[in-house]
Parts: sequence; structure tokens; C-alpha cells
Amino acid sequence: MKLLLASHNEHKRREFARLLPDDAGAERWTLQSLPGAVDLPPEDGESFAENALGKARAAAAGTGRASIADDSGIEVAALGGAPGVRSARYAGDDATDEQNLDKLLREAPAHSALQYVCAIAYVDPRLGVERVFEGRCAGRLSDDPRGERGFGYDPAFVPDDGPDGLTMAELSDEQKDAISHRGRAARALFAWLAQAPVDL
Ligand code: IMP
Repeated sequence: MKLLLASHNEHKRREFARLLPDDAGAERWTLQSLPGAVDLPPEDGESFAENALGKARAAAAGTGRASIADDSGIEVAALGGAPGVRSARYAGDDATDEQNLDKLLREAPAHSALQYVCAIAYVDPRLGVERVFEGRCAGRLSDDPRGERGFGYDPAFVPDDGPDGLTMAELSDEQKDAISHRGRAARALFAWLAQAPVDL
């Protein structure tokens, strides 16, 4: 069955495709990209759930199809949860991943407690169903950013549940998916979809 992903971001589509369940029911799900003509609202909400719901609702309204969307970011306890929903724009509206990471390393105390958060919203316009699933991944700030994989803040994020002392950017896709905020939220979504009334 086809699930519409409310994102124009190819990197995100690949990550979600990787997170489709690989058990006996795997063939049940394929991801469809959002038609280019459908506009998504700006991510200016106060929570990850609000931003994810806004995008899923826009995609569902624009296509008439059941849609999913996610919003994610990093929270630093010592900074009161910042940058949070502003993670992608932490160092400015057009900031690169590298600029955002540099700012985090300047502002967060060494070895700060961190968490990645991901909210995935599911909106089915025909059945009138809306659900949000959240996943979290706790970790610590590394004072020695390293690793070539992943993206964003991964080189400085040492997950509590990961192999000893490795940053997210040093993990394989499979290792990251097993413990990541996005992996956890996606598994909650697919566990729910497996038993939910769906109209795809
Ligand atoms: P968005 O969900 O596309 O709004 O992205 C939010 C921002 O949070 C990204 O630009 C990254 O900076 C950060 N982020 C979210 N998930 C991850 C991750 O898995 N690794 C590293 N950075 C992430």
C-alpha cells in the first residue's frame, strides 16, 4: 500500500524508505513522494508535533490521500531545550549543517546532555484520522566531533544507547536506525498502522 510522504526532501525520503518494516508485511508499504505542486507550510510551530501535523495536513488536503510528515531536532538540557524546533535554522535562516553544529559547540557546555526528538504525523483525510508518534534518543555532546556518516548534529552526538563512545556520524545506517529518534517514531507509526483502520 502506498503512503504519501509530505516532504520535498530526497534525503528524508530515503531515510523513511529505509525505516519501512522489513518483516513479513514489508511489501505492504511503499512511499510516494509529494507532488511538486503541493506547497507545505513553514515550520514555525512551537512543537515538533505541531510542525509535523501542519505538513501532513497540507499534503492530505492537497492530494486527498493519507499522508505522513515528520519534524525533528535536537534539545540541549543546559540551554533550556534549545535549539529544539529551530534546529535547522539555529545559526540563521539559511545556515548550513556545519554552521549550526559550530554554534552548538560554542554555546553548549562540554559533555552536555542532549536529546534528538522526532514527531511523525499521520493524517487520513477520508477517515478523518490524525495521529502523532514521537521518538527520542538521549546522548551527550562530544568535544571531539567526528564521523562522516549521518547529517546535521551527528558528528557531535554520542548516543547513550550506542556502541561505546561512538558518535552518530560513526554508526552504520542500521546502527543509527535501531536507536534513533526517527527510527523509534517510525516503528511506533508502523506498529499502529499494522492494526489501524487505514484507507490508503
Ligand atoms: P527538519 O526535521 O527537517 O526540520 O530538521 C531539523 C534539523 O534537526 C535538521 O536540519 C538537523 O539539523 C537536526 N536533525 C534532525 N534529525 C537529525 C539527525 O538524525 N541527525 C542530525 N541532525 C538531525
